This record gives sequence, C-alpha cells and structure tokens, in this order.
Amino acid sequence: MNNFLELCRASIGASHVLTSETDMAAYLTDWRRRFTGKALAVVKPASTDEVAAIVRLCNRFQVPVVPQGGNTGLVLGSVPDAGGTAVVLSLTRLNRIRAVDLINNTMTVEAGCILQNVQHAATEADRLFPLSLAAEGSCTIGGNLATNAGGTAVLRYGNTRELCLGLEVVTPQGDVWNGLRGLRKDNTGYDLRDLFIGAEGTLGIITAAVLKLFPQPKARLTALAAMQTPDDALQLLSIAQKQCGAALTGFELMSDFCLQLVTRHFPQMPLPFAQRHPQYVLLELSDGESEQHAMAILENLIGSALEEAVIEDAVVAASIAQSKSLWNLREHIPLAQAEEGKNIKHDVSVPISLIGDFIRATDVLLQQDFPACRMVTFGHLGDGNLHYNVSPPENQSDEAFIAQQDAVNRVVHDSVHRFGGSISAEHGLGALKRDEIRSYKSEIELNLMRSIKHALDPQNLMNPGKVI
Ligand SMILES: Cc1cc2nc3c(=O)[nH]c(=O)nc-3n(C[C@H](O)[C@H](O)[C@H](O)COP(=O)(O)OP(=O)(O)OC[C@H]3O[C@@H](n4cnc5c(N)ncnc54)[C@H](O)[C@@H]3O)c2cc1C
Repeated sequence: MNNFLELCRASIGASHVLTSETDMAAYLTDWRRRFTGKALAVVKPASTDEVAAIVRLCNRFQVPVVPQGGNTGLVLGSVPDAGGTAVVLSLTRLNRIRAVDLINNTMTVEAGCILQNVQHAATEADRLFPLSLAAEGSCTIGGNLATNAGGTAVLRYGNTRELCLGLEVVTPQGDVWNGLRGLRKDNTGYDLRDLFIGAEGTLGIITAAVLKLFPQPKARLTALAAMQTPDDALQLLSIAQKQCGAALTGFELMSDFCLQLVTRHFPQMPLPFAQRHPQYVLLELSDGESEQHAMAILENLIGSALEEAVIEDAVVAASIAQSKSLWNLREHIPLAQAEEGKNIKHDVSVPISLIGDFIRATDVLLQQDFPACRMVTFGHLGDGNLHYNVSPPENQSDEAFIAQQDAVNRVVHDSVHRFGGSISAEHGLGALKRDEIRSYKSEIELNLMRSIKHALDPQNLMNPGKVI
C-alpha cells in the first residue's frame, strides 16, 4: 500500500494525504460519537480532476472509498469501518462557488461548500437558497445531496433533491460525468442525477451541483402556538395551509417534554408562555409583499385557530432576535437531549394525516414493553417527519436502556411500517440502518437496488457496507 499512498501524494500533494492517527482522528468518528473506524489515509483533493485521480488509484489498488463532507451525518455513513483498508475522501477543499445565473435562478457550487456559505452566497446575489438545517454551519452541499437532506423548509421548497438541477460526479471508475445542466425540463432517458442524489456515496462522488435559487422573501415571521395534542397541531396545519398557501414555510411540532429538556439544560432560553401546554408548533411565514401583509395573514390565522379552540395560546416574534429565540428552542432539542444522556433515536415519516394516530399508538406500545420510558417527540410535522426519540426511565441507567435498543427499534419501526411509513425520513440508511431496512423493503425493491449498485460499482469500492 506504500506505493498507493505515494501515488496519492504525487497526485494531490503530500500534505493533503493524512496518515497519522492524530491527523485522521476527526475524520474517523461520527458526529454522535457512537463509532470510531480506521482508515489507510484521509485524502483531501482540491478539484474534480484530483478526486478523479484518487478514485482511479483506488480502483487500481482495490482500495474502498468513503466520501465525506462535513461528517454531520447521523447514520454512520461518512466514517469507515474498523477494517482500516479504506480511504476517507474528504471533499472540504472543493469549496468554490463556480457561477451564479440570476436569470436562470441557479448557482453552480462545488460539493465541499458549507451549506451556510451557499445560503450566504445566494443572499449576496439577492436570492434565497432555502435548504436549512441545524447542522448548516458545518454540513456540506455534497453531503446534503448524498443524503437528500430535508430540514425545516421542505414544506415549501422540498428536499435537497427538489433543489438540484444538475450534478457533476466522479464515477467509481474515476471518470467525470458532467451533468451540470441548469435545465428545468430534460426528459432524455434515465435520470442519473436522481440516482446519485440520496445514494449516500455508494454510487459515485458528487463534486459539484447546479442548485435552484428563489426570490428572497420580503418578510419572515415566526410564531409559537400551544395546543393539547398532535391532532390539534394537524388541524392548525390544515387551517394554516388554507389561509397562508405557499407563504407557510415552516411547521415544527415539539412536545412539552422536549422544551422542558431545553429549558433544563439551557436555562438562558426561557419559554415564552406563562404556563405549560402539552404540545407546541413553531410556524414560519415567508411573504413576498411586506411585513404588514405577513402580519395580517399570521394574526388572522392565530385568530381563527383560537376561535376554533384548536390552539390554547400563541406568541408572534416581534423582532429578528425574538424569532431567533423561538427557532433556538427548536434547534436546541437535539443538544438538550444529548446533555440529558443517551437515548434511542428514530427519524421516521408517516402520511401527515396519520401522525396523531401513530404517536398515540406507538407511545402505548412502548410503555407496555418499556414502562416509564420518556418520549422526546418533535419534528417536521408539515412533512410527516418525526424525530421520535426514546429516553430511559428516570430510574434506569443509560447503558441498561441502550442495551434494549434492538427491541425498542423493533416496536417503533414495526409501528411505522403498519402506518405505511418510512424508517428513515431524512437521515438515510448509512451503516446504522442498512440491516434494519431489510425487514421493511420487499425483496424486489432490494434486488433492484442491488442491481443498480452492481451495475455502477461492480467492485463494491464506493462506501461499502452502507445502504445496501
Ligand atoms: C445537529 C444536527 C441537525 C441535523 N438536522 C438535520 C435535518 O434537519 N435534516 C436532515 O436531513 N439532516 C439533518 N442532520 C444530518 C446531517 O446534517 C445531514 O445528513 C447532512 O446532509 C450531512 O451533510 P455532511 O456534509 O455532513 O455529510 P457527511 O456526514 O460527511 O456524509 C453523509 C453521507 O453522504 C456521503 N457523502 C458526503 N459527501 C459526499 C459527496 N460529495 N459525494 C458523495 N457522497 C457524499 C457520505 O459518504 C455519507 O454517506 C442533522 C445533523 C446534525 C448534527
């Protein structure tokens, strides 16, 4: 393998081939610190040609490749296994905005661009790139595309797949496919772009993408509404969609227990209500006209919902700072959960109309098998996507509870399946859910996926052990 590493160094410069344990450490452990893998090297090319050169070498020497962006993925997709034979191919040096086309409303960016930098570049061009998630300060657009990331604006703008018009990809053989087309219509055979999006690096390496841009809203308003049940939240969603139409850009559900955890671990973030309520919804409205126009729509909505007794209370952020505080409550739930201790996470989706039934039924099943377990249920209600997380009972150790993870997963995922849902709504499968998915997809579907993988990557060198 010395020859392989020497050739890598010759291709991209010795300082961009990391082999010492200390230099590689940050690339080998996943964000949640659940697993640390081993690698032959971490390679950091700076251009598409350099990526292609490395992949050709990997092909020649039969070295598995683990593509990595910001390493914020939550399903062990971006870290290598314990074998130590793979290279981690970090895309972070491919970080240029290549072009902005204001008439076509597109932006061509390299895969290693941090999502927040893509958002800023769009803002500087007086446009909006709407993808938004709590990891946006460190995740990359390549990782977002590879996982088809969701986030908080899917309700209005769709998943990352819907935000991408074209891709540049280095194939497992080291060829460069230039599919950087900024076309909104292109029916010329199989959609290769959609194949690579969401493939979690198992079919090729995304090196650049053409992204859709949107007009900047003139005003953005945030409100927090309080209600009794998830079914009330669904009713609020229905009223909001009727009254606000496309202006409704965010609709996030959070249980009171989620916010109790936030205020316990981040006391500087108080709740804006005098009394507690069982459920809350964070609403965001984006308006193309003006702040007054948005406020009139929002006040109307809250008025109707109070009148129909769908909600019990609501606050509207009166400033950008207040809006930030409301979003902070939502975005600090995962962090507060981590502070509280270990828990068993689920990223599931069911048809939106069934969310209330799903939560009720699954809560009962879990309490039967794991009495007093604590539910940390929140998520993108407007997309039917819940982070349905389970914390240990107060009197049980984290370790004892985590030891029952497979049994907890079985209860939750079987319930998701009964409700016609998905066991991975937005995080992907990675290595974490690769085996689990076999219980929920038909053999026909799994075999089609295997055929695609084999056709594109017959030597199984691209992120082996992930997805399929
Ligand atoms: C606090 C927090 C909040 C989050 N919130 C959300 C959320 O709301 N919605 C959501 O969808 N996700 C969320 N995530 C998960 C994560 O941020 C996303 O999956 C994100 O898209 C991963 O991007 P990344 O650059 O970090 O990719 P990585 O973690 O580096 O990689 C993710 C996967 O993509 C592959 N990959 C990375 N780059 C490329 C490339 N250029 N070509 C091919 N394959 C590649 C990797 O091999 C891996 O399989 C959250 C994570 C955290 C830590």
